[in-house]
Amino acid sequence: MSRETLEFQAETRQLLHLMVHSIYSNKDVFLRELISNASDALDKVRLESLINKDLQVDTADLHIEIEADKENRTLTIRDNGIGMSHDEVVSLIGTIAKSGTGEVLRKLRETPDAAASQELIGQFGVGFYSTFMVADKVTLVTRKAGESTATFWESTGAGTYEIETLDDAPQGTSVTLHLKPEDSEDNLFDYTAEWKLREIVKRYSDFIAWPIRMAGEEQPLNSMKALWARPRSEVSAEEYHEFYKHVSHDWTDPLETIHMKGEGTFEYEALLFVPSRAPFDLFSRDGRRGVQLYVKRVFIMDDCAELIPQYLRFVKGVVDAHDLSLNISREILQQDRQIQAVRRRLVKKVLSTLKDLQAADAEKYGTFWTEFGRALKEGLLEDPDNREQLLDLIRLSSTAAESTSLREYVERMKDGQKDIYYMTGESRAMVEHSPHLEAFLAKGYEVLILTDPIDEVWVDQVPEFDGKPLQSVAKGKVDLGESEPPAEQAADFAALLTWLGGKLDEDVKEVRLSTRLTTSAACIVGDEHDITPTLEKMYRAMGQ
Ligand code: ADP
Ligand code: MG
Repeated sequence: MSRETLEFQAETRQLLHLMVHSIYSNKDVFLRELISNASDALDKVRLESLINKDLQVDTADLHIEIEADKENRTLTIRDNGIGMSHDEVVSLIGTIAKSGTGEVLRKLRETPDAAASQELIGQFGVGFYSTFMVADKVTLVTRKAGESTATFWESTGAGTYEIETLDDAPQGTSVTLHLKPEDSEDNLFDYTAEWKLREIVKRYSDFIAWPIRMAGEEQPLNSMKALWARPRSEVSAEEYHEFYKHVSHDWTDPLETIHMKGEGTFEYEALLFVPSRAPFDLFSRDGRRGVQLYVKRVFIMDDCAELIPQYLRFVKGVVDAHDLSLNISREILQQDRQIQAVRRRLVKKVLSTLKDLQAADAEKYGTFWTEFGRALKEGLLEDPDNREQLLDLIRLSSTAAESTSLREYVERMKDGQKDIYYMTGESRAMVEHSPHLEAFLAKGYEVLILTDPIDEVWVDQVPEFDGKPLQSVAKGKVDLGESEPPAEQAADFAALLTWLGGKLDEDVKEVRLSTRLTTSAACIVGDEHDITPTLEKMYRAMGQ
């Protein structure tokens, strides 16, 4: 059959260029990425064989094999997992389907300095392409379980790849790296040295549930112990972090690790992580949730929505439930009371972990908030049961602080101040220049400045915090102990007010004299139940 030469998608080409000209200093991680992919493929084939009894597949010895050839300077990583069809090779290996890729690449171009680009690439994670850090040519041969033909793929990482259908190949995938010359400046290690390979596997992939063997050997290089099933005291931070990278496909250490166990009628283990950086698709519709479901060590599904609510979609990890059937469907999961109970417990645990973090390490919590605060605020609408806990976690800016919690605000409230004041707007500057603030600042009151579009929505739904009503400074009559304007003033201005009222008839409900302002001549005040200008804009943008 004939060999075709195809072009990488433009974004992929740029990313490959960066990888080939290797800006990432820790090149060892290419092996972690290949093993991680192989492990996923083994998980999938086992699951598929359990669900689909007709599938022609041998699952007797699922494993990963590493073969080094010193003479030819090649390194091959083989698995007998699910494999890929021809079209899957084209779509999965030839393109980067991840949303946000374009933006990362734009940033990379704008920050040519090595440290910054390393940071970005680490944040993005590049999986399979990381092989081009150490190889000047990569060959992949794969046959999908149940299919009779196989696919050959090869590339030097320079714009194009070759693809061909083969008559036969073993089930699964083998990836051969044609290693760069050993003495080349950016290839400091000999990746054909067995000790080096052993060391990398031990360091990054020890917990992989499938045996990883050197070709021709029986004894696995990894201990294969499911990390979540081990006692916490026996797992090191490094092991947790490497496991995180495997499940999350992230290249950066997590911010927090949560390892818990549920005992009693429904046993489960959960190993969850709060990442230190938000993925690019956190706010895109198809952004995925990161909790995988296992049943007694068997991988069942990615992205298990039944285990974690939408607003905590940034949490990554694994839940291993002992008493579920292996071919449980999403429909059944949705109905399962015990799964619902697990979900409630996970949410409580994540929120309490964040609360502890806030108390213990303000700076780290600040990082968390910058990355995920906006998602967490969605919880104020989505999860009324945990509203109190969520209100304790949110950070807002105010006229007195760049960042404050509601509790800190309450502690600073003036004697006699009953309400928590806030003003919403498009930006801090806009709010600060608003005449609405004047009277409050004059009285020494602090006002929360809410500039995130979702703020408009939740402040509407949350009536109070700690018994203190949340009150917009731009809505209704705010009781600031305003005195009525003196009678003679009212008389003086009566004609002007009537004239203004007539002129602005289309736009405002009423023009009245107020003692609220100190330096500005006039301001517009919304009715208690009006929507605010920002919200109006947001609705308009959404086409409503
Ligand atoms: P990621 O693992 O984050 O999805 P990768 O670049 O590592 O990104 O891999 C891209 C995709 O290619 C994988 O999601 C998987 O579908 C497919 N793939 C890679 N390696 C293998 C393999 N050994 N067996 C089967 N599919 C694979
Ligand atoms: Mg991968």
